[in-house]
Amino acid sequence: MFKKNALNASVSSSTSAALITFKYVLVATLWIFFSDYVLRLLGLNDSAQQWLQTAKGVAFVVVTGALLFFSVRFQLHRRREQEEALRQSEERFNLALVGGNDGLWDWDITADALYMSPRCRDIFGIDTSRQELLTKDWLTLLHPQDQPAAHAAMLEHLQGKTERLDVQYRVQHPGRGYFWVQAGAQAVRDLNGQAIRLVGVVRDISEQIKREQRLLQAGVMFDCTSEGMLICDAKQNIIDVNNAFCEITGYSTEEVIGRTPAMLASGRHDEDFYRHMWQQIKGTGRWSGEIWNRRRNGEIYPQWQNIIAVTDPYGQLTHYVAVFADMSIIKRSQEEIDYLAHHDPLTKLPNRLLITERLNTAVNRARRHQVSLGLIFVDLDRFKGVNDSLGHSLGDELLLTAARRMEYLCEEGDTLARLGSDEFVILVERRAVVEELSRLAERIQQAIAAPFKLGGQLVHMTASLGLSLFPDDGHDGAELLKNADSAVTLAKERGRNNYAFYTQALTEQARRRMTLESDLHLALKHNQLRVYYQLQKDLQSGQWAGLEALVRWQHPEQGVIPPNEFLPAARHAGLMGEIDEFVLYQACAQMRRWLDAGYPLRSMAVNMSGYWMERGDVVSSTRQALRQAGLEPAHLELEVTEDEMMQHGERGEHLLDRLAELGVRLAIDDFGTGYSSLLRLKRMPVNKLKIDRGFISDLPGNSSDSAMARAIIALGKSLQLTITAEGIETLAQEALLKEYGCDTGQGYLYNQPLPAAEVEKLLMRGDV
Ligand code: C2E
Ligand code: MG
Ligand code: MG
Repeated sequence: MFKKNALNASVSSSTSAALITFKYVLVATLWIFFSDYVLRLLGLNDSAQQWLQTAKGVAFVVVTGALLFFSVRFQLHRRREQEEALRQSEERFNLALVGGNDGLWDWDITADALYMSPRCRDIFGIDTSRQELLTKDWLTLLHPQDQPAAHAAMLEHLQGKTERLDVQYRVQHPGRGYFWVQAGAQAVRDLNGQAIRLVGVVRDISEQIKREQRLLQAGVMFDCTSEGMLICDAKQNIIDVNNAFCEITGYSTEEVIGRTPAMLASGRHDEDFYRHMWQQIKGTGRWSGEIWNRRRNGEIYPQWQNIIAVTDPYGQLTHYVAVFADMSIIKRSQEEIDYLAHHDPLTKLPNRLLITERLNTAVNRARRHQVSLGLIFVDLDRFKGVNDSLGHSLGDELLLTAARRMEYLCEEGDTLARLGSDEFVILVERRAVVEELSRLAERIQQAIAAPFKLGGQLVHMTASLGLSLFPDDGHDGAELLKNADSAVTLAKERGRNNYAFYTQALTEQARRRMTLESDLHLALKHNQLRVYYQLQKDLQSGQWAGLEALVRWQHPEQGVIPPNEFLPAARHAGLMGEIDEFVLYQACAQMRRWLDAGYPLRSMAVNMSGYWMERGDVVSSTRQALRQAGLEPAHLELEVTEDEMMQHGERGEHLLDRLAELGVRLAIDDFGTGYSSLLRLKRMPVNKLKIDRGFISDLPGNSSDSAMARAIIALGKSLQLTITAEGIETLAQEALLKEYGCDTGQGYLYNQPLPAAEVEKLLMRGDV
């Protein structure tokens, strides 16, 4: 191309030089002929003519000389200008090359000579002393992998298939090893379009390539990391998020772009939290901490977040980058690890570690609140035999079924744990009394004794149980566990399929209760219950006022058993309602008889247990008993203890209302021992308060008891209630209570509870 231009330039300058010369010759020739002709026309003599000829010749020389002078001067001036422009252009070109750190090369194809500028030699690592360079030198420097492509690109360009040569390849530098360069070049062609020269620049782009690779890696990291990433501009508008962000939050990229991170706020943190966070970002450029955010589905989750403020080289804030990890996964896996560490993998029950922790906490709590705590150690009898004969997987199945059966029997608040192998333990907190524990132990014994269906056959299994109680059988969890375990040995010694308390006496007590319970069923069936009566005296008039019906058990072998000994067993056996009802019918019928006999009695009191109240048929039974006996409701007084009255809440109140509607009188028994709410007391349809025996027995000596008795009487009076004092044993007690204004009294001073026939004798005597 350059050559063509140069050729064109030389052709045109020769033409114009010839043209100017031709014009000059033409003008000069015309001048000679024309001036000679004019001289001849003048007709001058020869000498004048000769003189004029000479003058004309001199004038011509002067004029053309002047013209030559100006022309030469003009040409020289232009050339100097062009040279200066060329020099400046060359200087600019060199500066540009140096500034751009580019190397120049010029390949004379015809001569196969390669020129390289110093920078170019520097890039390729070619010694400056080496003058002659050939193209093959250049090609050998290229990385073998890049040679074919570079060579092909060059050929294509030389063949005129491409406008420019633009190619990247790695070259080997003696000191640096391989590094990337970019080469750009353009061919100079002759008139036939044949490339005769190739001139180009080469640039070291290794840093640029490294930067690009880093960006590429960052891009891959951005998209592939499991941590959520969010980029905001300086105004906190989200401009980009990564895949993990979308997975964690549930939002798509389109849904968040242009919005602010406030859209993720969970509402869990107050303004102070965010203010403090931004203060730190502004102050130190970064913040990290736990923050609760909200997913698209509304779920709140914790994340560990790093926020970095990004600035440009001038310190101007440009972006915020937030990187966060979803901690719910970590927390969940921590919980899972924790779960595995504290649970038995087979039954999923708490393991030894967890039950020990819970036991110790429970012991501390029980000690603080001064309550008891029970532990039942369950050991399956001859479980090893099952494992050996049926195999471990059926053995596991048996353990699992046994665990489920026990779990079913436990109540809320109980903890069932598997200590290992065939050993289980149950921690009982709320109901840890001998009766409850032995009852639970029996039920577990029965549940285990029920056949197990394993692999198509029925397997029979029994368990031995050991029971220990806090505080009696141990001061801490470990001791309780150890003692429950040794109680298992006791149970096994008794022939397995058994249970034993760590304390011998408790085992006996539990056994007695067991027998009592089964005997009680028979007692009701065989009519062994008796109703005794205790008379009540009107302290002001000195007359008999009424009676209280109290149940007794006429045991065929043990004789008369008082209620305190068999009623707890009756409660456990679920017989309480039945007993109360029996007493009610008896008492109503007896009252009718005594009224018919003309004894001036006002009321017959019958005790009503919470169990009976819960059964729900108290009102109908009462109505029926009254009707059957033909007794007016006003003669019947139902007694509920203060504790039970308060325990039964609104349902109890409703029941009392309905009983009151019947016309029956209502009394609060053992008043002063419970925690009555005065408000409820005022609201309830109660007619009488019975001061508990505990306040009477130490009268008149005990001043606080007498103050209490006096206060209860005053309170009852102010609520228009009748007051009865229970357990009057001395005349002094009677006198004091009379003085305080107590209405009636009941106690051994007058009579012990007696069978109806005995009471009748007293009634007949008339005197009190
Ligand atoms: P309670 O209803 O407070 O009955 C009064 C208890 O005090 C009776 O005991 C009575 O014998 C006793 N007592 C009366 N005066 C004196 C005295 O001067 N000194 C002493 N030391 N004791 C005296 P009992 O008959 O043994 O009955 C005990 C508790 O059993 C009763 O207390 C009552 O809560 C319950 N009870 C008795 N019979 C029945 C019944 O048929 N149904 C229900 N639900 N509970 C009953
Ligand atoms: Mg009573
Ligand atoms: Mg009482």
